[in-house]
Amino acid sequence: MNPQRPAGFATRAIHLGYDPMQNQGALTPPLHLTSTFAFDSAEAGAAIFAGQTPGHFYSRVSNPTTDLLERRAADLEGAEAGLALASGMGAITAVMWTFLAPGDEIVTDKTLYGCTFAFFHHGLAKFGITVTHADMTDPEAVRAALSPRTRIVYFETPANPNMRLVDIEAVSQIAKAHGARVVVDNTYATPVLTRPIERGADIVVHSATKYLGGHGDLVGGIAVGSAEDMTQVRLCGMKDMTGAVMAPFTAMLALRGLKTLKLRMEQHCRSAMAVARMLEAHPAVAEVHYPGLESFPQHALAARQMPGFGAMIAFELKGGLEAGRAMMNAMELVRRAVSLGDTESLIQHPASMTHSTYTAEERAAHGICEGLIRLSVGLEDVEDIVADLARALNTLPQAQAGRAAA
Ligand SMILES: *Cc1c(COP(=O)(O)O)cnc(C)c1O
Repeated sequence: MNPQRPAGFATRAIHLGYDPMQNQGALTPPLHLTSTFAFDSAEAGAAIFAGQTPGHFYSRVSNPTTDLLERRAADLEGAEAGLALASGMGAITAVMWTFLAPGDEIVTDKTLYGCTFAFFHHGLAKFGITVTHADMTDPEAVRAALSPRTRIVYFETPANPNMRLVDIEAVSQIAKAHGARVVVDNTYATPVLTRPIERGADIVVHSATKYLGGHGDLVGGIAVGSAEDMTQVRLCGMKDMTGAVMAPFTAMLALRGLKTLKLRMEQHCRSAMAVARMLEAHPAVAEVHYPGLESFPQHALAARQMPGFGAMIAFELKGGLEAGRAMMNAMELVRRAVSLGDTESLIQHPASMTHSTYTAEERAAHGICEGLIRLSVGLEDVEDIVADLARALNTLPQAQAGRAAA
């Protein structure tokens, strides 16, 4: 890369930290499928163990293939250092177990990825860590929730399922003045659309399973932050407490995914905007939650904080549970599946799928109304995605009624 001029995002995602000429000319970084590493001498081994010379000794701690992914992910997020973990949950748990002890408190929103919510309430709480909820869309509510025991302020932006955003700068300022670390789950936005570290957050975590990998073929996690924090997470939360290390083969797939991240996100955003506009105009749809729409309550914050609005859309059907089920079963191109960020468009109806074992009251408490649909807009031709959704919506009785009234 040209040292005279800092390389752009996509260039770094493709080239950073790798020189083919150091690797027999291999254009693509080799896959280091090895669990352990041999030392030249006892002294050389001791120096690596002591951290005096760089090097690897065991792949639960580090490995050249995961190391390259860690350096690229950190760079793209504007962080000093990174870690590759077994899953998004592996990244979140490793970070939390590293920095929290019994008696500590975390402050977070109620709106969280389901397994994160469960980990906080069943995992952290079991070991004497207090979980306090605050409405993170309001920085003053965060300030009011902080206590002398607060060690971590944790949030997602945009968050599942209502896509609400958090003002990263405002919340980070308040939390850090209080001495708490700010940890942000940046899975939905990716570093193409939001870089929380540059806005004052301390640590960013990802489910690399989603956009970073981007092809629905891996499960992985990323954490990035200061070199000091990441060394602590590597040696404590990752190596000793969870063992949730990413496999080198997974890192290879994630490195391939990263190369097209910017390109993919740009198309994801364009297509999602077209889909959101169609949904907003459709008579069977009551409400669309997408940060790119002018009707989105936090559209101004979105425009300030995100150069693009992502490709996750939540919308509410007028026909409730029955309409949700009917729409799911009418989809032909868009796949009925959980997860997100894949090349394939994915659709999910929480009330009849992921949250079908909850009562309607429990769903409401989690912000899930009966007709709520979650959509991950993929990379198929946008005309095909729009046509499949419109055709499915048109089968609903509310579409007929809307048409009759029009
Ligand atoms: C999927 C997801 C996770 C969990 O990641 P896994 O890779 O499935 O462990 C965490 N946060 C968000 C926002 C997610 O979408």
